[in-house]
Amino acid sequence: MQEHKIFVTRSFMPPYEEYIEAIRPLWNSHWLTNMGKYHTLLENKLRDYLDVPEFSLMVNGHMALELTIQAFHFPEGAEVITTPFTFISTTHAIVRNRLKPVFCDVKWSDGTIDETKIEDLITEKTVAIVPVHVYGNLCNVEKIQDIADKYGLKVIYDAAHAFGVRYLGKGVGCYGDASVFSFHATKVFHTIEGGGVAFADHKLYERLYNLKNFGIRGEEIVCEVGANAKLNEFSAIMGLCNLRHIEENIQNRKIRYEAYCRGLKEIEGIRLLVEPEEKTRNYAYLPIVVEEGSKKSRDEIYEWLKINDIYTRKYFYPLTSDQACFKNKYRTVLLETARELSRRVLVLPLYAELEMDEIDKIINLLDR
Ligand SMILES: *Cc1c(COP(=O)(O)O)cnc(C)c1O
Repeated sequence: MQEHKIFVTRSFMPPYEEYIEAIRPLWNSHWLTNMGKYHTLLENKLRDYLDVPEFSLMVNGHMALELTIQAFHFPEGAEVITTPFTFISTTHAIVRNRLKPVFCDVKWSDGTIDETKIEDLITEKTVAIVPVHVYGNLCNVEKIQDIADKYGLKVIYDAAHAFGVRYLGKGVGCYGDASVFSFHATKVFHTIEGGGVAFADHKLYERLYNLKNFGIRGEEIVCEVGANAKLNEFSAIMGLCNLRHIEENIQNRKIRYEAYCRGLKEIEGIRLLVEPEEKTRNYAYLPIVVEEGSKKSRDEIYEWLKINDIYTRKYFYPLTSDQACFKNKYRTVLLETARELSRRVLVLPLYAELEMDEIDKIINLLDR
């Protein structure tokens, strides 16, 4: 039965022979991790592909975010304005740094942080803004930067969904003080597990290097209390293989995304949760919003598709601020739009190898 099930995503696999050939040198070198040759190669290639000034490769997206926040040395208990409409990792990374998340509402149009509501949340304790380019939808980077400049705040983007997205001729990772990517197996580009940080300030490269490698700077020198967040060579080689196929991968997603769009246009009460204007997209996700006029509710659609072997996901429900570990622990802010959106959003299956007739099947089921 396994074969009939359609999941929300499916990891991209490079051709088997290509990966096997690529890892062969590791058997000669015996060099499996610790900033190896392929780690360095991938770090450089990703810096070029993402079109960013500096890039630091890490073991996963979460550690990349946690260590990036740590690298700014914010005072304990300081406040960070962020979005609750995200994967739990974003909020965990803030709280694990002993900082206080202040949840800001999001926009109904695209699910990104509502930049018009940020200023009201700023206090003398605010040190940073951590927005998320959710589903690859770009935050209002200009307005957020204006606010940050006015109040002297850092901006650290969770860009886990935004691999390869470009805006105004620049890589998405050029905005803010740092942007964190995830290369988890379920993401558009992956290294099995992996992640990284884009930024402009070279001093941050040195700090992140220390934090990801125990602060070791020489055989007998430890200069900082660092963690271990290095990417191993097998993962780096998976990344190098996948990077060779990234354009065809995104192109295949685009074709499927557009097929969905054509079908969904005909269905009353369902809209895509994407930015209105055309920006460079990576077709990472296919989020829909089940609006008032729909025949079935979001949860009914979820169950209906499930009994038909289509496994969608309620990303992002519940809001991270409503999870047991965070509920009622931080400043209360009205999150009406975020809460309503999280009750109405559903992410449909989208990946490079999704069959076109499977999309037709999903559209037909949604139309009933
Ligand atoms: C995937 C993801 C992360 C965490 O990345 P990992 O590589 O799985 O650690 C962080 N934030 C968001 C929004 C994500 O989707």
